[in-house]
Amino acid sequence: MVGVLALQGDFREHFAVLCKLGVDAKEVRTKEDLSRVDGLIMPGGESTTINKLLRRQGLDEEIKRKARIGFPVFGTCAGAILLSKEIIGDSQQPLGLLDISVKRNAYGAQLDSFEEDIDVKGIGLVKAAFIRAPLITRVGKGAEVLARYQGNPVLVRQGNLLASTFHPEIEGETKIHELFLKMIKERRTPSE
Ligand code: GLN
Repeated sequence: MVGVLALQGDFREHFAVLCKLGVDAKEVRTKEDLSRVDGLIMPGGESTTINKLLRRQGLDEEIKRKARIGFPVFGTCAGAILLSKEIIGDSQQPLGLLDISVKRNAYGAQLDSFEEDIDVKGIGLVKAAFIRAPLITRVGKGAEVLARYQGNPVLVRQGNLLASTFHPEIEGETKIHELFLKMIKERRTPSE
């Protein structure tokens, strides 16, 4: 079963993609919910709000603990900000799991929100919506850049962690979710 963090933001759209793919999905709001899923999608929204609610539920520590032992987590936009090691020029503390630095709302006013087809390594063209997207300004050695837009990394994977600065769930796109489902399956196989 795949969990979608449902504290704030566009979790319903992720849920819809999972349903479209015929996957059993669950909204995650508590530690109890989290204990029942095999992987977690953290949606876009307002990272400061989601961060606050995560802490209130004690979900921050639990996600960190699980992710460090291989639990798959996919963060989109605000979710990617929360997964990062460092948010440049911002006082909020991210989970610090994925070795990237990000800058929030870094595309100028003119490019506030836009759509692009981006070329993803091993997948091909994917429809991506950027909505007040963050910029990934640094990628650590252990992380792999799977896609770029205008030279900047927009999709990064580090083992069991996946982060996109764009929204793959809005355009009826399913390929990035399928990649995440593969990551969950890969993880499950050895222990079965
Ligand atoms: N700008 C938002 C933030 O900084 C992220 C936007 C999004 O998730 N679409 O949290």
